[in-house]
Amino acid sequence: MRVHNFSAGPAVLPEPVLAQAQAEMLDWEGAGMSVMEMSHRGREFGQIIAEAEADLRTLLDIPAGYRVLFLQGGASLQFSAIPLNLMRRGGAPDYVVTGEWSAKALGEAQRYGPVNVAASTAGGAHDHVPPLARWRLDPAAAYLHYCSNETVHGVEFHWIPETGAVPLVADMSSHLLSGPLDVSRFGLIYAGAQKNIGPAGLVIVIVRDDLLGGASPLCPGLLDYRLNAAAGSMPNTPATYSIYIAGLVFKWLLAGGGLAAIDQLNDEKARLLYSFIDESTLYTNPVARADRSRMNVPFMLRRAGLDEAFLAGAGERGLVQLRGHRSLGGMRASIYNAMPIEGVRALIDYMRDFQTLHA
Ligand SMILES: *Cc1c(COP(=O)(O)O)cnc(C)c1O
Repeated sequence: MRVHNFSAGPAVLPEPVLAQAQAEMLDWEGAGMSVMEMSHRGREFGQIIAEAEADLRTLLDIPAGYRVLFLQGGASLQFSAIPLNLMRRGGAPDYVVTGEWSAKALGEAQRYGPVNVAASTAGGAHDHVPPLARWRLDPAAAYLHYCSNETVHGVEFHWIPETGAVPLVADMSSHLLSGPLDVSRFGLIYAGAQKNIGPAGLVIVIVRDDLLGGASPLCPGLLDYRLNAAAGSMPNTPATYSIYIAGLVFKWLLAGGGLAAIDQLNDEKARLLYSFIDESTLYTNPVARADRSRMNVPFMLRRAGLDEAFLAGAGERGLVQLRGHRSLGGMRASIYNAMPIEGVRALIDYMRDFQTLHA
């Protein structure tokens, strides 16, 4: 019996993808072996990674002049790779802090040199996106880094910052592929796979050609974008099985109508859940309405002492991994692409019943 899994990550994957992986586990397309057992230099895996890249390019309409890299170390290793590759291109980079993940990216960048905090909600509750007009931008900055969807705090940018000639670098780990995106606005986009794309460990980097080269001499070769691009993401053995699963997820998205279709569905799922929370007497969401995440929905119970009962009751109905992040408490429902709308409806039904029970 499959549950409705609201985990923030590793997170729910599309059931057809898991079923196909199961069907192909022992013998991938007549190869007589699992994808896990294949040489990454062989023809079969070459086809798998090439198709994954082509399908991702189709989904996101990635312009020519951008490289797609399938790397390892999760999104967190990119917190180091970005300054090591890009810091020397200009003045101190600008960082915008709107939650847990952008704060971590900032902390890592500070190991490598001076950094300008262009805007931050760290003094408060990380419950909104500060307006661009108040950012202290440096036109000579090497790049600007921000996190376009804060997974812990449930804060999402529904707009793209305009930074002129300064390359825009975005951590999109928890909402890449949740809807269409104008990739041409960015210098570099990265996303850990385990939220909306595939298994943990894999990170996808989409980087503009002109940002390759110029890495610090201290940058490990495995983190150097130019070397990774030149080696087709294979300076060493890549995360082959994770790339295969991500490729199946891309095909699942394409078959469902691409990002325009999933965008509509994500809108509807988020609208259902937020409107129920806003109209309820028991639940609250702390985030400014214009900046609420469509993927990660933190919510609190207004009455103290009910959290454990809420979670236990949810578990009995097959609604799992709803406990909020340890830094915030309360609850969090992550409703990524692979969460069916029936899962959101089942959660709302449960929340309504629980509220009635505790009115
Ligand atoms: C999960 C997450 C990360 C960290 O991913 P790892 O794969 O654990 O390194 C970074 N940024 C965001 C926005 C995330 O959601």
